[in-house]
Order: sequence, then C-alpha cells, then structure tokens
Amino acid sequence: MNKSQCPDALTIQAVADGEENDLIITEHLQDCSKCRETYLDVQRIISVAEGLSSDARLPIGFYKVLSGRIESKPFPAFLVAAIISALAFISVYLLNPTYLEWWFSVGMTRQFGFYIDMFFDLFFLSRSINPLWVITVMTAMVVLEFLILSKLKTVEG
Ligand SMILES: [Zn+2]
Repeated sequence: MNKSQCPDALTIQAVADGEENDLIITEHLQDCSKCRETYLDVQRIISVAEGLSSDARLPIGFYKVLSGRIESKPFPAFLVAAIISALAFISVYLLNPTYLEWWFSVGMTRQFGFYIDMFFDLFFLSRSINPLWVITVMTAMVVLEFLILSKLKTVEG
C-alpha cells in the first residue's frame, strides 16, 4: 500500500482495534488529517462501547450465585415432614395408645388428602424459602393438629 493512499474505514477500524499495525497505515493516519479524524472517531466509539460494556458487566460469581439460588436447595422437606409426623405419632402413642388408634381410624383418613397436598406444597416452598420456615410451619401444623384432635376427642368421647 502506498503511503499517500487513504486506507478504507475497515482498515482504520482495525488499527483502532489493534488488529492492524502496518507502519505505512499508522504513519498515514498521523499525516492525513481526514484519516486521523476517522481514526479518532473510531477510537471514541470503541472507548464508549468499552465503557458501556464495563458498566454493564456483572459482578464476579454472579451466575454462580444466581444458579445457586435457582437450583433447589438440598432440603429434604419430605423427610422433615415424615420425621415430625413420626414424632407426633410416637408422642401421641406414649400419651395414650387409644389416641393413636383413634387418630388412625378417624383423623388420618379424614386428613390424608390434605396432608399429601401440604407435603407437596412444602416441598415446592422449600425450594424458594428458608428451610427454617418450612420446619416452623410444619411444627405449627402438628401443634394445631394436636389441639384439634384433643378438642375433637373431648367432644366425641
Ligand atoms: Zn488518508
């Protein structure tokens, strides 16, 4: 390329990007005011673009944090529910074996569907909320169950 020839805009852009470092072209850019202006324009655009992209850059580890929040926590809601229920059964049995018998014959059949729904709800809830809340709610449900059962037991017999 002749030093007096003006390079095309793509070549000037390549120089600004650092992809082109032909001495004939870079010297031409210093000598030719028209090409220097184009070069400076391209440089401005590049610096603005870099400024924009660096402003929009996500913090380090963002995707890791995000995926960690989206992915379900390894919280065994079913297991916790089962353990609490088992503890409830045991404590009822220790309190009075006939209570448990009554609970199975009346209470459980009446509330089985409700429990299944609740377990599923808790399972999905545990993916998005603090597991402590699930345990708290579950415990509250068991306590409520006891209160209702003891009330019903008193009424029925
Ligand atoms: Zn030129």
